[in-house]
Amino acid sequence: MRTDRRQYLTVLGSTGSIGVSTLDVVARHPDRYRVYALTANSRIEGIFHQCMRFYPEVAVVGTDRDARALEGLLRQKGLKTTVTYGLDALCAVACAPQTDTVMAAIVGSAGLAPALAAAQAGKKLLLANKEALVMSGQLFMDAVSASHATLLPIDSEHNAIFQCLPLGCTPSSLASCGVKKVLLTASGGPFLHRSVETLDAVTPEQAVAHPKWAMGRKISVDSATMMNKGLEVIEAHWLFGIPPAQIEVLVHPQSIVHSMVAYVDGSVIAQMANPDMRVPIAYALAYPDRIASGVAPLDLAEIGRLQFEKPDDIRFPCLRLAYQALRAGGTMPAVLNAANEVAVQAFLEKRIGFRKIADIVARVLDMIHAESKTTGLDGILMYDRVARQTAGQLIFS
Ligand code: NAD
Ligand code: MG
Repeated sequence: MRTDRRQYLTVLGSTGSIGVSTLDVVARHPDRYRVYALTANSRIEGIFHQCMRFYPEVAVVGTDRDARALEGLLRQKGLKTTVTYGLDALCAVACAPQTDTVMAAIVGSAGLAPALAAAQAGKKLLLANKEALVMSGQLFMDAVSASHATLLPIDSEHNAIFQCLPLGCTPSSLASCGVKKVLLTASGGPFLHRSVETLDAVTPEQAVAHPKWAMGRKISVDSATMMNKGLEVIEAHWLFGIPPAQIEVLVHPQSIVHSMVAYVDGSVIAQMANPDMRVPIAYALAYPDRIASGVAPLDLAEIGRLQFEKPDDIRFPCLRLAYQALRAGGTMPAVLNAANEVAVQAFLEKRIGFRKIADIVARVLDMIHAESKTTGLDGILMYDRVARQTAGQLIFS
């Protein structure tokens, strides 16, 4: 029986960019939060130091060998943290009765099963892992409503939209709330104004050097191709129940306005903050309260100017591909996501050029006839596998 009133937290992907920012906010509020579980794939040093600081009851890593290595390090320091490994262990800490809140911050499709496990268990679920929702939108949202889980978006754009909607506005009440559209802002990434012909020559290092945000490598490449915004259009569709035609993307290089909601009376409500993920993380952790995040206050006079422009379809074909997959529906977004993950990895390993990413995704979408209705998790994972194989063959050929 628990005696303290703090929120117990599982951080899936604690060694990543979002995981580290989450623990930074948590450390500022020891009276409100206690860490139940931390998870990492292979950064054993990183999770070891986090265990030393946050004393979780459980730590999960990728392999048996890493689990034994971490356990050895922890026991030397006298820590009793239980160390486990693998997918089942990730799902177990996501739905454990000892945890109230789950931060889903594993990158890519690897995060789907544990995020879904948290949703099915009715947790307060802070969702950073957008790929999970892109892959399994209907299934995921059905799980949330069946279990009465509280789903709070961490992606800064969706967190902004959530903040700009009237309290209690649900997908079925969007129209009566007077919502006309959502305006998703995009920084445009590092290649916003670079000539299209020179994009073939860009290196992974240039692609991950985002001008405004410090993030993991995969999402940084997605930002450079604008597939990130494409995935976010699909994410917005599922989170807010809004049709694709009412989701508009607007390039905003300063990354100060994180997204907006336009209403039928002509009002547009925006959420602004310095570009730092601790803002949406703190909002979601404390919701419906607000707590300090450690982020510097916004100085608009210093920033001076906020610019907006339409995205360039030729430079950023991934955005169009994501709308195409969303409109096709069913398992097509899972196919898009898988092809993109494989192509981005190949780009990061310097096996293909930058513009090939969009090319491979487009070809995989053409080659695979996905099911028009969302199937169960097994069906989604089957399409994920087929899309990966197809993308892999295209890269190899
Ligand atoms: P990251 O690469 O920095 O961290 C990923 C985390 O996932 C690490 O802890 C890693 O150990 C873990 N992981 C990776 N592969 C795994 C596997 N196969 N099994 C188990 N764990 C695994 O990524 P990030 O930038 O923190 O992004 C995490 C998620 O949040 C992504 O889905 C991303 O799209 C989303 N997101 C990130 C940001 C950001 O600012 N970084 C913003 C919005 C959304
Ligand atoms: Mg985002």
